[in-house]
Amino acid sequence: MKISKDFRWEMGHRLQCHKGKCFNLHGHSYKLQVEFEGEIDTNTGMVMDYFDVKDVVAPIINRLDHTVVVWNKDTELIAMLKKLNTAHVILPFETTAENLVGYFLSEISKADIPSGISKIKVRVCETENTYAEDEIKI
Ligand SMILES: [Zn+2]
Repeated sequence: MKISKDFRWEMGHRLQCHKGKCFNLHGHSYKLQVEFEGEIDTNTGMVMDYFDVKDVVAPIINRLDHTVVVWNKDTELIAMLKKLNTAHVILPFETTAENLVGYFLSEISKADIPSGISKIKVRVCETENTYAEDEIKI
């Protein structure tokens, strides 16, 4: 059985390696869809309580919301963000949707997940028309 919950946040970034428009500093209204797969707990009738899903995922989202995320190799942008004293999060990867999927899977899997859960899947949407997704077995 699978359960899923959606989260939304606003975030700025740029892709330092991109040859086109994505090199420019810009932002997205992101959507994250998190899916947990596992057995239904016979006591609760749930795979995982949606409130517990929120408790796991919301703190990860809140660290990114209304910030600029920046690759640690993008030293020019980091210097500018520090000079502007604006909220930013330095990450060890180019901030593509694909890499953000890996980041979310890593962060979510560190949390206290119910023992009946066997798989976590995340989908990151930068726009209405695009997404990247991956899953891990736990
Ligand atoms: Zn973008």
